[in-house]
This record gives sequence, C-alpha cells and structure tokens, in this order.
Amino acid sequence: MLRRKKKKSGGSASVEAELPAIDFKPKAEDKQAEQGVLIACRGLEQFPAAVILLAQAVDTRADQVLMDFSQQGAAVRFRVDGMWEAMPPMDRATGDGTLAIYKRLAGLNPQDRRNRQKGSFGIKYKGVDWISKVASQGIPTGERVLLRLETKKPVLNTLADLGMREKMQTQLKALLNSEDAMFLFSGAPGHALPTTWRIGLESADRFVRDFHSIQDVSADEPELINITQHTYDSSAGETPMTVLKSLLLKQPDALVFPELKDPEVVGLMCGEVSEEHRYMITKVQAASAVEGLFKLLGTHKKQAKELLKICCGVLNQRLVRRLCPDCRVPFQPSPQLLQKLGIPAGRVKQLYQPFIPPPPEQRVDENGKPIEIEICAKCNGRGYYGRAALFELLVIDDEIRKAVLSKPDPAHVTAVAKQRGFLTFQEEGVLAVATGMTSLQELQRVLSNKK
Ligand SMILES: [Zn+2]
Repeated sequence: MLRRKKKKSGGSASVEAELPAIDFKPKAEDKQAEQGVLIACRGLEQFPAAVILLAQAVDTRADQVLMDFSQQGAAVRFRVDGMWEAMPPMDRATGDGTLAIYKRLAGLNPQDRRNRQKGSFGIKYKGVDWISKVASQGIPTGERVLLRLETKKPVLNTLADLGMREKMQTQLKALLNSEDAMFLFSGAPGHALPTTWRIGLESADRFVRDFHSIQDVSADEPELINITQHTYDSSAGETPMTVLKSLLLKQPDALVFPELKDPEVVGLMCGEVSEEHRYMITKVQAASAVEGLFKLLGTHKKQAKELLKICCGVLNQRLVRRLCPDCRVPFQPSPQLLQKLGIPAGRVKQLYQPFIPPPPEQRVDENGKPIEIEICAKCNGRGYYGRAALFELLVIDDEIRKAVLSKPDPAHVTAVAKQRGFLTFQEEGVLAVATGMTSLQELQRVLSNKK
C-alpha cells in the first residue's frame, strides 16, 4: 500500500504523496475495465502532470482548459470567468503524456492525433463531483484540445443566483405563469442561455400546470422535474409533428420547444395557444431581447403576426464579471460621470473599480527598489471573482405590438419599450455598477462586445 509521506523541507518526498487528491472515474464498460484504465494511466510518467493541471484548473475556477500542441510543446490556457489566461507551457513529452492520459480516461484513442474525438470522464476533487469533457482535433500545426469542466450538480439554481433583480424575478414569473401566451428566452453564445433556460423553466409553475417538452432526440436538453420530455428523431426524418399531434389530444397546459423551426408546428401552436388556452415557451440565439423578438418573427415571416399576438415577453442576458469583494477599490465619481451614466446626483456616493496589481517588473519604487504589493488571496490579483448576468426583460403589450407592426425596426421598438419602463443592458448595467457588483470598465467591455 502507498503511504503518504510526511512533508519534509528540502527532502526528496515522493511526488505521488504530494499530488492533489483527485479520484478519476474513467469512461469504461465495467469496473474491471475502469481499473485497467486507471492502472495504465498511473503507470505513465506524466500522470502527476495530468493530475496537477486538472487540480489547478478547478482551484482557479477555470471552466475550460485549452491545450495547443505544436512541434515544440503544448501551450496551455485556462478560461476563468470567461477570460483566457496563459499558463506555463508544457514541453512536448509532458504535454503528449498528459493528453494521452485524458484521452484514455475519456475512452478516446490516444494514438489518433488527427481526427475529431469527443468524450468525457468524471473526477472527484475536494468532495465535489466534476465531469471533464474532452474534445480533440488535429490542426495544421498540431492538435487542439479543449477540456470543459462542469460540476455534476448545477451550482446555480435560482434566478437570484444568476443575479436577477427581485422585481424582475416577480415580473418574469408572472409572465411564465400567464395563459394563452408564448414566452421567449434568448441570449448570445457564451452568455449562459442554457443556464437561464433551465432555471427559467424551473421558475414556471409546473406543479399546477401540466408541462411537456418536445425536442430532438439528439438535443442536449436538461431533464427537469415535472416537465415530461417527448422526443423525435430528425435524423430519421421525424419532426415535432410526429409527437405533437398525439400529445395535443391529452390537452397539455404548457409546451416547451427548445427549438422552433418547423412552420407547420408554429402555425398549429399559434392556434392552440390563442384558441385552446395553452402556453408555449421557446428560445433563440440573439444579443438582446428586442433582437430576440425580431429573430423569431423574421424566422417565421408567414406566422409573424400570429406569433407577435401571442408573445408576452422576451428575456435576454449578458454575463459580466463580479468585482472581487475583498479588493475592489472605491472611488468618488465626478458629477460629470454620474450625469453621463444617468445616475441622479446624490444617489451614489462611491463607485468601485478592480484592483489589478502591476506586473512584477513594475513593482519597484522610483529608485528601482522592489516593493511588496499584496496580491488578493481571493481573486489572485484578477480584480474580479465570479460572474453574474445582466438581464433585459421585454414585456410585450399592445403598444409594443403596434410599434413592431408600424415600423419593424429594433431601434424604434426599443425606444417605445423604454418609454414603457423597459431597461436595456446599458441601464441594467449602470444599476449593477451603482451597487458595486461590477465595474464601469467591465460593463463597457461586455457591452462593446456583441458576442
Ligand atoms: Zn480580490
């Protein structure tokens, strides 16, 4: 049996004993095969490097690890709170061995460095179960590998966890529990639409009403309590119609369409919602709530009027980094700045900015003598810790419908909506800045980047 050696200063303690305690759960047919994979991986010289990289990733809260292989070695990057950070590169042998271990754990072929491969394996680290999804693909200069780390149990479970204001939560729930209507979730890629979708659906009242979801069998949709999933197989030529007609005979209250593409389904559902008092929920990719509405209407031009009639609201979200609560720096905003932000004078005494320590070579005084700068232990000098979503909730009433029909232009509809109390990301963002949740720099970064 392996015995954990005591840490000695300067001694040649065994590397094995110093390794972070990660339990691997390889992708394998049975327990015996799992054991075989584990023994083979542990036997590789690069096993410690593979363990340390994963532990570092989890410890720094990275949700993605990118390894770029070239002749020289492997460049390694971590994605923390949506931002890529370069890590020390690995030499070729260490990188190759580490990748071979991840591939074996994920049930992939370590020898194949060219074809696209996808798999996953489980890890348990510090009492938490993680799924590590591996995707590899040969590229002209070598091979590119993306490791995605997800907790097995979702960490975010409520609208408040996502950062939604209380008043908006109430508004959203009312819309999700209305009748004879359709609600639309939307979001740009990389801005947590899948998470908002899951939590949003869970916020609808599925106990009183009967919820059914209709989705492609290959769609990666979460299983939710009290929503019955019905699948069709588009690769076999099936459409939602395959299951929808028989489902409608059972008089369901609410229907969830993760994807709404089929015109026949849209036509049928518009009638079902307005005449049979059903409720419908779907989602599209879009960078704002107004854009989401136009995208839906633009995709279904023939049924646009009917869709607009039943659509009661659109939600959209954008992720911003939260300022680190331990090291954020307060400052007094000038009256001009407050005016520019539209914050009434006297409302906010201070705003906050991140503390980003200067790079090591600049940590010197005027005489060139090194000075100690304390690096925040919580955020490790990033200035930010975790992310939250800003939300746009567009409530669609008859005035908005009129605006869309009279002048189908997003800027016009946004202007009419704003008169009716709609807050755009800009205004929602200023609220988040005013409370010190995020910084002005971060808001500008996120709003200037449409993706
Ligand atoms: Zn900090």
